[in-house]
Amino acid sequence: MTAPLILDTQMHGIRGSTAAFLVRGERTALVETGPRSSLATLLKELESVTDELDWIVVTHIHLDHAGAAGALAARFPSARVAVHERGARHLADPARLWASVQSIYGSQAQRLWGGIDPVAAERIHVVRDGDRIDLGGGRGLDVLETPGHARHHHAFMDDETGILFAGDALGMQLPGSETMRPATAPPEHDLRAALASMQRIRSARPSAVWLTHFGEATHEGRADGVDAVCDRAADTLQRWHDIVAAARRTGARGADGILAVAGPDLDALESSLPADVCARLDATNSRTLNVEGIERSIERIAGTDPQKEEIR
Ligand SMILES: [Zn+2]
Repeated sequence: MTAPLILDTQMHGIRGSTAAFLVRGERTALVETGPRSSLATLLKELESVTDELDWIVVTHIHLDHAGAAGALAARFPSARVAVHERGARHLADPARLWASVQSIYGSQAQRLWGGIDPVAAERIHVVRDGDRIDLGGGRGLDVLETPGHARHHHAFMDDETGILFAGDALGMQLPGSETMRPATAPPEHDLRAALASMQRIRSARPSAVWLTHFGEATHEGRADGVDAVCDRAADTLQRWHDIVAAARRTGARGADGILAVAGPDLDALESSLPADVCARLDATNSRTLNVEGIERSIERIAGTDPQKEEIR
C-alpha cells in the first residue's frame, strides 16, 4: 500500500498553504493542481517522483485548486482531467472564469494567478457522485458530491488507504495549529449544503482527511480522529455564521461593518491560532472574504440576495 504524497505548490510563495496530492496505482493521479502561477514549483516536485500522469483530478475549479489544470494537461498529453459537470465548461473555455478573477483582482490578477490555459474538451472527463476513477491494480478514487463551498465541489476517497481528499469542504487547517477556519468565500457558499457535506464525509468513514489547505487534518495530534475533525469543522462553521448573524442584528452590513462588530468574537474563536499561521490563513482565505460569503448565504436564505450568476 503506497500512501499518497503531499506536494506543496507554495502558492503565492507561501509554504504550507495549498497542496496537491499524488496517488499511484498502476495509473497515476494528481488531485488538485494549485494555480498556474505556481506551476513551475509543482512540476519540480512532481517530476522528482513521476514522469507520467494519467489523471488530473480537481475538487472544484477555483484557481487555487484547478488553475494549472490546462498547463499540466499540456505537459502530460495523455492525462485526462476529471471534474464536476458544472465545472467542465469553464476548464474547456476559461474566458468567463478569468474575467471574473480579473473583476476581483484587477491589475494583480495575472501576477497572482498566472492566467488559465484551456483544457481540450475531449480530454475532460466529467465525474459524478458515486463514480470511481480507476487507477488499476485494485486502487481507485471514489467520487463524493460535496457542495457548500461551491455548488460544483467533489471530495475523493482513495479506496486503498481510506484517505479522503476534502478540497475546501471542511475548511482549512494549516500546519502549526489545529484551528479550523471555514472556507466560505463568495459567491456560492451555502451553510446548509456545507453542513450536509461535512456529515456526508464523516459518514463515508475515511481513515483520514487531507485538506487542500493544508494536508492531513488532525485532532489532538491524531489523523485518525476524523469524526472529531468533521464535528469541529461543522461547529466552527456554525459559529462563524452565528457571529455574523449577531453582528447583522446590530444593523452592521458589509464585511467591514460586520468585522468592526464581530472582530472580537472571531478573535476569541481563533485565540489559539499562532500569529504566523493566522497570517498564512489570511493570505489564502481572509476573514473579509469569509464574512462576505456568509453574508451572501444569509441573504440567500432570506431571499434578499440578487443571485447574480457568478463564478470565481
Ligand atoms: Zn481553496
